[in-house]
Amino acid sequence: MGSIVTSKKWRLVALLSSVTFFATAQETSLLVIGIMQDGGRPQMGCLKSCCKDMRQREFVSSIALIDSANQVYHLLDATPDIASQFQLINQSLSATCKLGSIFLTHAHVGHYTGLQFLGRESMNASHVPVYTMPRMERFLTDNGPWSQLIRLNNIQLKAQHTDQPIQLGNFQITPLLVPHRDEFSETVGYRVKGPRKSFLFIPDIDKWERWERSLAAEIQKVDYAFIDGTFFADGEVNRPMREIPHPFISETIALLDSLPRTIRERVYFTHFNHTNPLLNPTNPDRISLEKAGYHFATTGTRLAL
Ligand SMILES: [Zn+2]
Ligand SMILES: [Zn+2]
Ligand SMILES: [Zn+2]
Repeated sequence: MGSIVTSKKWRLVALLSSVTFFATAQETSLLVIGIMQDGGRPQMGCLKSCCKDMRQREFVSSIALIDSANQVYHLLDATPDIASQFQLINQSLSATCKLGSIFLTHAHVGHYTGLQFLGRESMNASHVPVYTMPRMERFLTDNGPWSQLIRLNNIQLKAQHTDQPIQLGNFQITPLLVPHRDEFSETVGYRVKGPRKSFLFIPDIDKWERWERSLAAEIQKVDYAFIDGTFFADGEVNRPMREIPHPFISETIALLDSLPRTIRERVYFTHFNHTNPLLNPTNPDRISLEKAGYHFATTGTRLAL
């Protein structure tokens, strides 16, 4: 008798924990809310076919971390498209969630200038936590209009340090220092862990060889890797490309091609320059990379974490 009661109890415990597990899996996710390099699409001054059609507008690269159980979402970067990205998030969610925190990668225009819309001219937000590295923090504190956001308590700066995880509800968010053109701030990417799955977000890096970590090893630690896909190959823009270094997608795949397909499938290229021919889903090089397992980030994609 006792053993039947115990086994029933265990079955109930197992059932309840699987329900909780399912609920958590549904409720924590990442949502891709932009895929472009800082200038977006259309890019100012570009009269070519890549930017002509306004229906092909794309937002600057960013990811929202959705924590429905806590009715909150966090943003990786604050892009100049943040107002439209807010609407996109609200339309994608069934429950109402509020903006929680913002995590900034660096002080290039596509990654932080969306903060301006938290100010009194626009949203007039109150005490939104903004996580920054030390130089980024000084940059915002010492320069207007960002200093006013701090003074008027629209935002509240929070310190983050490389390799030190920050626990926020169901997410653990770890900044990772990366080499980049650091004129105004250092640059970080993020590793984010949910209850079940994790991902890497590195929208900007100069070249993988200049990083003290191995890209292949970092991809193997996570389930998805959203990485710098700014340019496909050398010669893509009409100016010396060493002035704006990024790993060409052609170089990144050379680093990863010997890995098993299951690892390559974790890669999602993002932060595309408007000139990148792989932005076009019918491009033959893109199609063959997709056949090899690589993904190209798409706005609106939602993945459970
Ligand atoms: Zn960028
Ligand atoms: Zn263009
Ligand atoms: Zn940058």
